[in-house]
Amino acid sequence: MRAIRVSEFGDPSVLRLLEVPDLSPGPDEVLIEIRAVGINPVETYVRSGVYANKPALPFTPGSDAAGVVISVGDGVSGWRPGDRIYTSGSKTGVYAEQAICSPEHLHRLPDEAGFEQGAAVNVPYATAYQALVHRAQARAGETVLVHGATGGVGIAAVQIAHSLGLRVFGTGGTDEGRRRVVEEGAELALDHRSPDYLNELMGYTEGRGVDLILEMLANVNLSRDLSVLARRGRVVVIGCRGPIEINPRDAMVRDASILGMILYNASPEEYAATHEALIKGLAEGTFRPVVQRSLPLAEAPRAHEWVMQPGALGKIVLIP
Ligand code: NAP
Repeated sequence: MRAIRVSEFGDPSVLRLLEVPDLSPGPDEVLIEIRAVGINPVETYVRSGVYANKPALPFTPGSDAAGVVISVGDGVSGWRPGDRIYTSGSKTGVYAEQAICSPEHLHRLPDEAGFEQGAAVNVPYATAYQALVHRAQARAGETVLVHGATGGVGIAAVQIAHSLGLRVFGTGGTDEGRRRVVEEGAELALDHRSPDYLNELMGYTEGRGVDLILEMLANVNLSRDLSVLARRGRVVVIGCRGPIEINPRDAMVRDASILGMILYNASPEEYAATHEALIKGLAEGTFRPVVQRSLPLAEAPRAHEWVMQPGALGKIVLIP
């Protein structure tokens, strides 16, 4: 089979497509055929060697894929050859034609979702769900600003928040992205490159501010986020690419909370509840992953360049 291998940390050119031996499942393992792979920004941090948890070299990147079960090892129950699945991790990496998974890495992909959409589920939707439901404990009727609503996590957050009965506001850097954010369930989409967009938000909420902010770029926005929160408001820091200075008084005077989160800290109960909700949402059509670009597996280096550029509109996927 063919797989992307990284033999040294570095720029996107270290993602090399190689012919490698086929895989076979051991006890308690499942072999899957991968039909689509979801690209996440974290994979660029891991590839370049700046991420705190570095894998041993060489490795095949990626956690999010969709495909079908090929075969199961001894002791596996609940999965059969031919089952459609999406993944939340693997033992061997998913930028490849095949992967070995533990049963807990696999989730049923409803017939209503295609493989490219399935590859766009795990990190974006699970993160958005964890942030909204388990960290911020969002309630119907509250207002939420999805700060960076055009990317993988942002579009998922807009759809999930809308389905939970929140009033959703989003931001995007392009006209096309902002139009899409409104189509996906936001009542207002603002331009995070405009100097006074947060004043517009305050005007729109008649000076009250918002109950929740899901923050995709905290190193740029966290300080101003605190000034547009309503009393008892919460900011969930999802994305952060550096330090920022804040005035804690802005949180103090609002009884506001800053909540950090990283998906792999979810408890087993939260993980199970999240994927149950995601599968239901995919089957009902409430959660509709948006794929901006799909490229052949060999173009993984280009996908890593694009995922870090502005102008997001959902996910980039690779097709093995
Ligand atoms: P993505 O698809 O590349 O999207 C990036 C988003 O950030 C786009 O909506 C982009 O908007 C927006 N953005 C750019 N400049 C911004 C600004 N000044 N203010 C607000 N938003 C801005 O990435 P993603 O997969 O959605 O992930 C978003 C971030 O969360 C990344 O940093 C990622 O590493 C992180 N993340 C964290 C976790 C966790 O567990 N904590 C999980 C998943 C992702 P435009 O392109 O329209 O300008």
